[in-house]
Amino acid sequence: MSRRSAETVGVRMTGWAALNRDPQVDPVCYVCPHCGLEGQKQARRARAEYRFTDGFVQDLQGEMSACRGCHAPLHISPIVLVHDQDEQRRFEAMFALEAAGVSSN
Ligand SMILES: [Zn+2]
Repeated sequence: MSRRSAETVGVRMTGWAALNRDPQVDPVCYVCPHCGLEGQKQARRARAEYRFTDGFVQDLQGEMSACRGCHAPLHISPIVLVHDQDEQRRFEAMFALEAAGVSSN
């Protein structure tokens, strides 16, 4: 297994999807492709830098992080901005297969 950073999809809840969350906390959530641990980091990039692509508002450049379980460096990309439960369902449908398939390397 190489130690170069692995790509993983991030999700950043906003609007209706983040109603029961402290507005001061604006995390990007992701799953480590190496060990499957869920992690989160404070979002760094402004929402204005996100672009509407493939039906979602996404940050295609992404952000770097590291898994707190296995310490693997992670490149979180794309980071998808999810506004409500409908988008949340579409996001899970689109990215669930992809996220499940990357654990083999
Ligand atoms: Zn990990």
